[in-house]
Amino acid sequence: MDLIIGAGISGLSYAAATGNDYQIIEAEDQIGGYCKTIYKDGFVWDYSGHFFHFMRPELRDYVMSRIAPDEILTLQKHTQILYKDRHVDFPFQMNIHQLPQEEFIDCLYDLFSIPEGAPSDTFKQMLYAKFGRSIAEKFLIPYNSKLYATDLDRLDVDAMGRFFPYADREQIVRNFRHPEGHSYNATFLYPKRGCIRIVDSVASTYGHHRPPYAPLRPPYLHYAVAHTALALQCAV
Ligand SMILES: Cc1cc2nc3c(=O)[nH]c(=O)nc-3n(C[C@H](O)[C@H](O)[C@H](O)COP(=O)(O)OP(=O)(O)OC[C@H]3O[C@@H](n4cnc5c(N)ncnc54)[C@H](O)[C@@H]3O)c2cc1C
Repeated sequence: MDLIIGAGISGLSYAAATGNDYQIIEAEDQIGGYCKTIYKDGFVWDYSGHFFHFMRPELRDYVMSRIAPDEILTLQKHTQILYKDRHVDFPFQMNIHQLPQEEFIDCLYDLFSIPEGAPSDTFKQMLYAKFGRSIAEKFLIPYNSKLYATDLDRLDVDAMGRFFPYADREQIVRNFRHPEGHSYNATFLYPKRGCIRIVDSVASTYGHHRPPYAPLRPPYLHYAVAHTALALQCAV
């Protein structure tokens, strides 16, 4: 018997994948965890905006095949940064030509004046070494410090992985004339009835179909103790 703590997307996916008996324990009165939707006054409200962009097509098909096709929207992301008196397209580093002329020149000058061998051991150092002082200090450092709520010198150079929109000088300059939708989620899927439809889709598989990927089975899980929000203690 597997004891699954939490009916978020992780717990529900595990339940859908395992061949074992399982018990799911959920502290809330609804499934979904962070991925929940409220319907109110004709509007659809998600607890947090979710972009669905599946790396593996078989997983996309697995989840989406349980949602009516006309319920699924394919959307192009359009994100802008409110910078002083204007909106600048995201990512900032690709769109410095939309800044006031003086600031554009600062960014461009610094981008092409990065000292040879500038240190790049932390995330903050990498921002200076890759984009120059102006792009780093005008946007990338304040934005990412706020987003990750930490001093960026405490983060590993590749802390954001594929979620950080890297761009080299040639791409930045090319983007002045030929804008590209640069980011890992430039296009994404969204169910009209909110992100809970993804959760419902996974939950609807119980006992019927196994997903087309190998379930994760911890090989040496002999004993575990779980404390729930209801102070329930279980041994498995
Ligand atoms: C602002 C924001 C935006 C996001 N955007 C995206 C996105 O665009 N695309 C994307 O793929 N992901 C996105 N995510 C991430 C995604 O929401 C999470 O990765 C995912 O929902 C995590 O699911 P989970 O099941 O691991 O955890 P959770 O959703 O946290 O679920 C955990 C569940 O366990 C329950 N629980 C916890 N402790 C106990 C206990 N002791 N006893 C019983 N029950 C318990 C909780 O009530 C909850 O229901 C976003 C997250 C946030 C916050």
